[in-house]
Amino acid sequence: MPTVPPPRPDGVPALAHRAGVASGLLGMLCVLAVLCFRLPDWLVTRDALPLYLQHLDLLRGLLMFSILATLGLAALSLLLWRRPQRHALAGLVLGGVALLLGGAEAEPVGTATPRRFAAGLDYFVLELLVLGLVFIPLEAVFALRRQPLFRRGWQTDLKHFFVSHAGVQLLSFASMIPAQALFAWAVQWPFQQAVAAQPVWLQLLQMIVLVDLATYWVHRAFHHVPWLWRFHAVHHSSEHMDWLAGSRMHPVDVLVTRAAAFVPVFVLGFAPAALYAYLVFVSFHAVFIHANLRWRFGPLRWWLSTPEFHHWHHASDAEGLDKNFAAFLPLWDRLFGTAHLPGHWPRRYGTTGAPLPEGYVGQLAYPFRRPQP
Ligand SMILES: [Zn+2]
Ligand SMILES: [Zn+2]
Repeated sequence: MPTVPPPRPDGVPALAHRAGVASGLLGMLCVLAVLCFRLPDWLVTRDALPLYLQHLDLLRGLLMFSILATLGLAALSLLLWRRPQRHALAGLVLGGVALLLGGAEAEPVGTATPRRFAAGLDYFVLELLVLGLVFIPLEAVFALRRQPLFRRGWQTDLKHFFVSHAGVQLLSFASMIPAQALFAWAVQWPFQQAVAAQPVWLQLLQMIVLVDLATYWVHRAFHHVPWLWRFHAVHHSSEHMDWLAGSRMHPVDVLVTRAAAFVPVFVLGFAPAALYAYLVFVSFHAVFIHANLRWRFGPLRWWLSTPEFHHWHHASDAEGLDKNFAAFLPLWDRLFGTAHLPGHWPRRYGTTGAPLPEGYVGQLAYPFRRPQP
C-alpha cells in the first residue's frame, strides 16, 4: 500500500510542498521559454534556431502543456493544503505572466540583426526539462539512497546549472582560445582531412579516448595542486549525489577542463557531426554518473564510467579519496593506479576539510578567499 509522506517541519503536507515547488519551477521555465519566443536574437543559441524553426508547432505545444501543468500543479498544491503556499503562489503568478507575455502564441518582438553572442536560455530550459523528465522518475524507482527530491543545496546546484547552460556560447568560445593560441602549429590540413573522412562512430570513439586522457590529467592536477583544488572543491562539496549534483562546478573549473578537452579536437580536426554527437553524449553521461541510481553494470563497470565509479570519486570515505578521475574510461585510472571499485558503495560524500559555503555566490568567491588555517 502506498504510504503518504509525513508533513514537513513547516506544517505543509509533503505532497502540497512538492506540487508547489514543481509548479514554481515549471512556471519559471515557462516564462523563460516565452521570453525565448519573444527575443530569439538575444536569448536563443544561434546554431539551434534553424532546428527550432523546423519544429515550431511541437515547441509551442510543449510550452502550452507546460503552462497548463504549472497552473494545475499550483491548484493541486493549494487544494491539498487549503492555505497559500508560497511556491504554489509563485507558480500561479509565473503561469499568468507566461500567458500575458503571449503564451504558446508568442511572436518575436522586432527584427534585430543576429548577434555574435546570445544567451543559451533555450538550452537551459530544454535541458532542465528533458533531464528532469528522464532522471526524476528513474531516481524515484531505482534510488540508491532515500533522499528528498528537493534535498539540501538543490537551489545552489540549479544556479550552477543555469550559468553553465545560459552561458554556453561564451564558455565554449572562451574554452577554444587556449588550443587555438598554443597549438596552431600542430594543425596539419591533410591529416585533419583524413581524420574527418573516417566514419563518424570511429571519430566518436577516438574523441572519447583522447579527450578522456587529456581531462584525466587535468582532473588529477585539480586534486593535487592546492590552488587548483580550491576551484575543484566546489564540485566535491555536494554531500548528496543526484542528477543535479554534477552541475555544481566553478566556472573556472568548467573553462579549464573544456579548454583541455578541446586540444585534441582542435589538433585532430574531427568532423562537426562527430563533435555534436560527442557533445550530446557527454552532456547526458555527465549527469548520469552523478545520479542517485543503484545500477551496478556487472563487469562493464571496469570499462565504462558508471554512477558507482563516479560516486567513489565523490566519496569522503578515506578509501575513496583521489580515486577514479576518468570521466568516461576507467581504463586510464587502472593504467595510472587510481581506480577504486571495491564492490560496495561509499558511505558519505563531500570534502574532508572545512566545509565550503553553501550559497552560489559564496562558492564562486571561495577559491579567491584566503584559506582558513
Ligand atoms: Zn574531482
Ligand atoms: Zn563529479
